[in-house]
Amino acid sequence: MMDCLVIGGGPAGLTAAIYLARFHLSVVVVDEGKSRAALIPKTRNHAGYPAGIAGTELLARMREQAELYGAQIVPGRIDQLTLEAGVFTAKMSGSRLQARSVLLATGIINRRPNMTDALHDEALAVGALRYCPVCDGFEVTDRTIGVIGSGERGTNEALFLRSYSKQITLIAPMGRHDLADEQRKKLQDAAVEVVDGPVGRFDLDDRRLSVRIGSNRHTFDSIYPALGSDIRSGLAVSVGAEATEEGCLTVDSHQRTTVSGLYAAGDVVLGLDQISHAMGEGGVAATTIRNDLASDRPLYR
Ligand SMILES: Cc1cc2nc3c(=O)[nH]c(=O)nc-3n(C[C@H](O)[C@H](O)[C@H](O)COP(=O)(O)OP(=O)(O)OC[C@H]3O[C@@H](n4cnc5c(N)ncnc54)[C@H](O)[C@@H]3O)c2cc1C
Repeated sequence: MMDCLVIGGGPAGLTAAIYLARFHLSVVVVDEGKSRAALIPKTRNHAGYPAGIAGTELLARMREQAELYGAQIVPGRIDQLTLEAGVFTAKMSGSRLQARSVLLATGIINRRPNMTDALHDEALAVGALRYCPVCDGFEVTDRTIGVIGSGERGTNEALFLRSYSKQITLIAPMGRHDLADEQRKKLQDAAVEVVDGPVGRFDLDDRRLSVRIGSNRHTFDSIYPALGSDIRSGLAVSVGAEATEEGCLTVDSHQRTTVSGLYAAGDVVLGLDQISHAMGEGGVAATTIRNDLASDRPLYR
């Protein structure tokens, strides 16, 4: 029986693991290895790294730090979580783990445009495909930018990016745009070009991504998909935790979900989807877990 099982080894889960291990608690992190941070070629807005740092490098450093203090990091996927008499049981292929508390730090998955994985990863690596204007809008200052999306999400993303460049095109993914008059007016006032889809084949040429729409080809320095994301909160919901309509877990100001003993941090919780935010929530969650465990039984040495 461990003190805390952390599900997910991204910035949120690993920060929590560092704190928990340094509180002299037993902690196991189970991680499927699909952190969004691992997709970042180089983050330049994460404080403390003026020259930037690759997401994989940042994760490797955090894993090293967590293990240094005794956290166990196990590769794998938790497929099922149950709760009985205050004890959590998690199942992964071939084994069962039991814990007094669980931190869910499973993140989200961005919905991708229709392109092969190989093209997707190559475009991402050279910055022709990007997912996070807050993170890397600065890098596309005064470049030609395509946003694939429509409705409120597409409009907001295009207008956000407008403060980086005059050359923004909002492309409807499926067919005709689904835009209210007010949204069209805002886009027009901001001189955002609005193009109906459907989006066809993508090609990467000389670090620029082009997309076929009907018989035309549009080429951009960078394309941002604004297609939404899937929230990996299913395990928490299966034991009764409350989530928003979209699937983001509801937590109090100490990262407690609505299920006693179950905590959540990072992108899986509604908030700013950023490394710093995930880390902050991981630290808050870990300290709350420590204090809640201590209120059940003293943690004296
Ligand atoms: C292309 C890109 C660029 C970005 N650039 C920046 C940037 O420059 N600056 C910035 O601050 N943010 C950036 N972000 C956002 C940042 O990556 C995320 O906010 C951050 O990774 C969230 O951390 P997290 O720990 O909540 O989730 P994640 O990092 O996604 O980690 C979740 C982990 O949980 C694991 N997991 C999920 N389900 C299970 C399960 N059932 N069992 C076991 N493990 C499971 C996943 O495999 C994954 O390893 C970027 C994101 C993308 C996609």
